[in-house]
Amino acid sequence: MQYLSTRDKQIKLSSAEAIKKGLSVEGGLFVPEQIPNMEPHEIEGLAEQSYNERAYTILRKFLTDFTEEELKDCIGRAYTKEKFETANIAPVYKLSEAVYFLELWHGPTCAFKDMALQILPHLLTTSMKKTNEQDEVVILVATSGDTGKAALEGFRDVNGTRIIVFYPDNGVSEIQKLQMVTQEGNNVGVAAVKGNFDDAQNGVKKIFTDEAYKALLSRNQFKLSSANSINWGRLVPQIVYYFSAYADMRKAEELKPGEPVNVVVPTGNFGNILAAYYAKKMGLPIAKFICASNENNVLTDFISTGVYDKNRAFHTTISPSMDILISSNLERFLFDMTDGNAGQVAAWMQALNAGGRYEVDDAVKAKIKSLFWAGFADDDKTMATIKACKEQFDYVIDTHTAVGKAVYDKYAALTGDKTKTIIASTASPFKFNQSVLIALKGRNFVAGKDEFTLLEELSGISGMRIPKSLADLKVKSRLFNLVCEKDQMPQVVSDFLKID
Ligand SMILES: *Cc1c(COP(=O)(O)O)cnc(C)c1O
Repeated sequence: MQYLSTRDKQIKLSSAEAIKKGLSVEGGLFVPEQIPNMEPHEIEGLAEQSYNERAYTILRKFLTDFTEEELKDCIGRAYTKEKFETANIAPVYKLSEAVYFLELWHGPTCAFKDMALQILPHLLTTSMKKTNEQDEVVILVATSGDTGKAALEGFRDVNGTRIIVFYPDNGVSEIQKLQMVTQEGNNVGVAAVKGNFDDAQNGVKKIFTDEAYKALLSRNQFKLSSANSINWGRLVPQIVYYFSAYADMRKAEELKPGEPVNVVVPTGNFGNILAAYYAKKMGLPIAKFICASNENNVLTDFISTGVYDKNRAFHTTISPSMDILISSNLERFLFDMTDGNAGQVAAWMQALNAGGRYEVDDAVKAKIKSLFWAGFADDDKTMATIKACKEQFDYVIDTHTAVGKAVYDKYAALTGDKTKTIIASTASPFKFNQSVLIALKGRNFVAGKDEFTLLEELSGISGMRIPKSLADLKVKSRLFNLVCEKDQMPQVVSDFLKID
């Protein structure tokens, strides 16, 4: 199968080349030229398979240039019981007759980004080999929290790769900082940048566009790459868990063969929900997609009006991984909605770039509305939802997942739809313990308590075990204490790679 750019269909690459490149030269994203099929009997067959077998069944249909051995090797390295603390990898939790949580946070950093970032490094290094690339990959990441740690864990000790993560000195939570500065591995580097997230991100972008610096790297046989969510190698693994959830529910006889389900996704960059949409295109019987946002509700407005407008106030919320005003993966969805009209997609993206706004035509609006329902929840509503979920069902969810649940509740009340519904649960409540405890017990309860006390408290209240990776932070040594100025970032990279 070939991959095309969303902005220029003349560009055609193998999946290995698309994964190696990440982004197309003219700024477009890579998409498969057609979405492969899963026949009903193949979907039924998944019920008896392990998570890794399911992953192989799906991924082989997209990554057709990978051999069976290569794919199974990548999958086997990524999804292990040791890393995920459960053999199911992505288990389904039944909340009520109609509502099921798909727990995507059992990986090493306790958030759903592990589902993709555990396998991406292997897909990437395999792609490098397949395309005869001799250089070593250097992954540069600017992070506001979750992605940096998930990328560090994914790339640690992966042969042929180095990873350097920059985080804003005063822009990540205490636990996120601890997670990063205690990172182990022979090929990892972590540095704080004086400033905010934009400073760190601009610094990384500058390195990516500095031709002289890239030439220096090239002379030393290094090649820059990024691990961000526009890489096809991050998106395709996310399709697997929607099939896996359906298969688990079939196996438990919660669903009849072919019975439709709804899917709710707490959304930021539109990657996770797009993966669910691709699953439907392949044949998974999904009735409705419910797109849930926090107060940064640019997607809620887009789905209801067809106008995408990022010219609005940015809100810092208790679901920080969804604090996004430009949802990059929407571009892939628009390409599909216009039946592959690359010129139209390029024009909309150009308008977004120039004026921060575009409006899709009526046909696309109608198509989107027939598939999607969208809503948002502010912080108060999110808090109230965490509390209600605990009181009604004795189940504790994190702030992002609570946005999804709040929006689903609204949808169910307004429509009366009783279709069984899978809500993507995107982070462990332990990862956002402070907000979760405030929701459950009030502000006074958390005052003056350190991270580890809060983890213990949350474990007591929820009856859930503290994830090992978070509990271990208490005894891990701090390995990185570098704080740099923004303009020192290239030097930090050079020092780490021992080049000059
Ligand atoms: C990244 C993230 C999201 C948003 O996912 P997208 O694929 O960007 O829409 C939601 N919840 C959590 C916990 C995340 O880390």
